Amino acid sequence: MAGPVSSIAYVPLHEVLPPGFARAEGRLREIGSKLERHHSADRVSWHWYPEPLDASQRILVRVTITLYNTRDDWLELTLYLAGREDGHLVVESAVEVACWCEENHNMHPVRDFGRDVEDDFELADAFAAGAKMLTAVLNEGPFEPQPWRVAAGLPIRPG
Ligand SMILES: [Zn+2]
Repeated sequence: MAGPVSSIAYVPLHEVLPPGFARAEGRLREIGSKLERHHSADRVSWHWYPEPLDASQRILVRVTITLYNTRDDWLELTLYLAGREDGHLVVESAVEVACWCEENHNMHPVRDFGRDVEDDFELADAFAAGAKMLTAVLNEGPFEPQPWRVAAGLPIRPG
């Protein structure tokens, strides 16, 4: 894992994008920098993964935007590209909250988006769609995890 860096400008996309997807680099940078410059995105970290983590789905690059974080609770937005065994890529984005179930699951996605892509055009379009979902949250909130858990029917944080 490499990073964190605060901007996609510092992510060596040419090292992480597989052949056949490299031409999406310019649009990914445009979309990523627009997202990270949103006035509600104060805590932005980009990571990239030069080495495979896992054979079945390998994360290539990921951005995390932290909207809320205390010692025991948090709300994060994430957008990432992962490579699959069949050579396709998948773009996923999610709103994630800390788990307050009796059994600890660590995290729950309360809104998510995912799309498989086969070429650089589809990659850029899916990345834009994933970023759009997160931008809607940055525009409107909620900026605390509890209302998201209530809306998703998850156990709420006591107190
Ligand atoms: Zn849980």
